[in-house]
Amino acid sequence: MNLRKGVWGVVASFAIYTALYWYHVIAAAMPLDAQFSYFAGSCSVICMSMGLLLSARPRVVETSFGGLDRMYRLHKHLGIAALLLFIAHYATVPGEPEGDAAAASVVSDEGSTAPPLESPAEEEDLPIDLFGTIAAIGFTLLIIITLNRKIPYHRWITTHRFMGVFFIVVSVHVFLVLYDGEEIALFSAPGVVLAFLLLAGIAAYAYQQFIYPKKKKHPFTLIAVNRLERATEVVLHPKDGMFPFEPGQFAFITIDANGFREAHPFTISSGAKEDRLRFTMKVLGDYTRRVRDNLTAGADVAIEGPYGRFNPLRGYEKQVWVAGGIGITPFLSVLRTMVPGHGKTVRLYYCVRMAREALFFSELEARAAELGGITIILFESDAGARINADVIGADLGGALRDWSYYLCGPKPMVAAVSDGLKKQGVPVRCIHNEEFEFR
Ligand SMILES: Cc1cc2nc3c(=O)[nH]c(=O)nc-3n(C[C@H](O)[C@H](O)[C@H](O)COP(=O)(O)OP(=O)(O)OC[C@H]3O[C@@H](n4cnc5c(N)ncnc54)[C@H](O)[C@@H]3O)c2cc1C
Repeated sequence: MNLRKGVWGVVASFAIYTALYWYHVIAAAMPLDAQFSYFAGSCSVICMSMGLLLSARPRVVETSFGGLDRMYRLHKHLGIAALLLFIAHYATVPGEPEGDAAAASVVSDEGSTAPPLESPAEEEDLPIDLFGTIAAIGFTLLIIITLNRKIPYHRWITTHRFMGVFFIVVSVHVFLVLYDGEEIALFSAPGVVLAFLLLAGIAAYAYQQFIYPKKKKHPFTLIAVNRLERATEVVLHPKDGMFPFEPGQFAFITIDANGFREAHPFTISSGAKEDRLRFTMKVLGDYTRRVRDNLTAGADVAIEGPYGRFNPLRGYEKQVWVAGGIGITPFLSVLRTMVPGHGKTVRLYYCVRMAREALFFSELEARAAELGGITIILFESDAGARINADVIGADLGGALRDWSYYLCGPKPMVAAVSDGLKKQGVPVRCIHNEEFEFR
């Protein structure tokens, strides 16, 4: 398996917590009915906390996870796991022992039965249950919204920000359980781990909401908006000098103009040594349409990044690049960065609907000729050309395993090529892909 160090770190944390938890279960003789429920509940909380830590975009751990896009993918999987574990916890949480309910019915001296009173245990449990229930409802709703792909990104992201609020509610619930100490006490090994992760999750959320937006970004000025075929090239001039980046990396771009202030991620399509920054944006939705139609030169632009670890220049000598549509942008940056004598043999399959949608095609061909070792093959789907592992295999003469692969484009295309390569024995470590999607 090609699991990155960061993912192993997450798996190891769960393994350590599991060992601590079950040791505690045995040592503290936890009642049987509570064992599974508390385990599911605490693991759910750990998933949530780790998800929040990842979404704070800590750059120091980016390499360990293989790039920010992978960190977001893991964040999503942790969110789904958190919900399932939450449901498992909620469905199995032990109720009050029947004896307590009977005790609540007080028999008076005269023999008449008084209305049932709340037992002290029930009163104590009330806030714990209340916080648990609020969090359960909130999380379930937010995750259902997340999974509903029909909700536009900007609406979804607004609701998604409330995850942190519900995490705080969950934290109160867990702290009350730990304070209560009936099953897991605060100062037991699993209690300390949980308390630490809850505080870390809350700190990550606070950082994301209050400190992160104020963090200094790279200042640029918009100097040109070039309208291309169903895409727009945005050219920026640095105010404080260019920041270093690797070809294939992306950045979040925030334009200081009405209607453009939401940060959007785009791959840097300029070369790493250029004195300006270029992004090539496919016209897809509201934002990218407004960039094309309404944006004019002169605006201030804040750039946050670079992020990502999709850099073919770090890879082996023989490489296959597959670009689907706008997925050409990382390869544009790579080709604009490479110099003759680069020592690589590259076959770039550039897949578009029709030839005129192949952005910068003549520049790419000219670069390939100048650099040597690069072959560009255009695939037009309107003409019936489809890319897959068999087609690549036939083109390479069958030796699929001698090459490493860099894939960027629509999710179904990347998934199909990647699955086909794996089926034909290409090791996972030789297949690299970049997803233009965080959700
Ligand atoms: C790592 C990465 C690199 C990318 N590089 C490029 C590139 O080089 N060229 C290019 O054309 N596109 C790129 N994209 C995609 C680009 O970010 C979206 O197409 C763009 O933000 C769409 O905005 P919209 O409002 O016009 O479209 P919408 O129709 O509103 O959104 C389409 C999809 O874009 C994504 N998206 C929208 N807004 C945001 C946001 N604020 N933050 C994150 N994702 C968002 C969502 O998945 C959404 O479903 C990249 C995305 C990622 C994650």
